[in-house]
Amino acid sequence: MRLGAKSPLLREWNDLVKYYAAQMKKVGVRTELGKEATPDVIKKEKPDVLIIATGSKPTKPELPGIDNQNVTNVFDLLDNKVTLGDKVVFIGGNEIAVQTAEYVAVQGKKVTILEEGKRIGYDINIFNTLVHRRKMDEYKIKTLVNVKVDRIEDEGVVVTTLGGKEATIPADTIVVALPFEADTGLRQQISVTSAPEIYSIGDCVSFRKLYEAIHDGFKVGVKV
Ligand SMILES: Cc1cc2nc3c(=O)[nH]c(=O)nc-3n(C[C@H](O)[C@H](O)[C@H](O)COP(=O)(O)OP(=O)(O)OC[C@H]3O[C@@H](n4cnc5c(N)ncnc54)[C@H](O)[C@@H]3O)c2cc1C
Repeated sequence: MRLGAKSPLLREWNDLVKYYAAQMKKVGVRTELGKEATPDVIKKEKPDVLIIATGSKPTKPELPGIDNQNVTNVFDLLDNKVTLGDKVVFIGGNEIAVQTAEYVAVQGKKVTILEEGKRIGYDINIFNTLVHRRKMDEYKIKTLVNVKVDRIEDEGVVVTTLGGKEATIPADTIVVALPFEADTGLRQQISVTSAPEIYSIGDCVSFRKLYEAIHDGFKVGVKV
């Protein structure tokens, strides 16, 4: 959620974060930021109920060149862990790719989104689709659909078009923006003795959306 809020159209998410922080303070929820929950940390806390909400993590497709220096992912990009080149190419055209592409384009970069399917933003609802289309036009974001990424080279991304033609899309930075996967790392390290009751909520169950994460949390909150 912290990373999503960096996208130009999701700035109001920061208000939501402030709202929940204020509500937690009101009802006396103790928070410790910058601390990793490990099995040892949890053991020391001796919780009656353990709720795991570790979110999702980026996926890494098996492509020649995927470990090249010019390749990054949405998480590292939004976390300011990479220096972007002038030409930025996104592999994958889902909602998160579009939002992150807009975040990059407002910085003055030349952005291209590559999508294997026939539509950019295939998982965006109709209202937001119209807004994003306008934004993508305004930011001059190029899109290529029906292209299969074959490999990554120093000069850019090599794709095959629907007609079977090979083309290189020039790129200084390549951003993998394929659907994330549930981060089940902590859940797998937790044993049944860690707490009498254990729940997983949000994206660490399966990669979904904010609505589901909030509702998972509400339902478990009511239950316990
Ligand atoms: C760029 C981007 C755009 C998005 N756009 C949309 C959108 O338009 N609409 C929508 O509905 N959803 C969108 N999403 C998805 C949405 O943000 C997630 O579905 C939602 O935030 C999931 O909530 P969560 O609490 O399960 O996980 P997260 O919000 O990912 O939070 C998990 C938190 O757990 C922390 N954590 C992980 N492991 C540990 C550990 N061991 N110890 C302590 N802390 C840990 C992480 O640092 C993170 O802060 C977007 C996501 C991104 C990244």
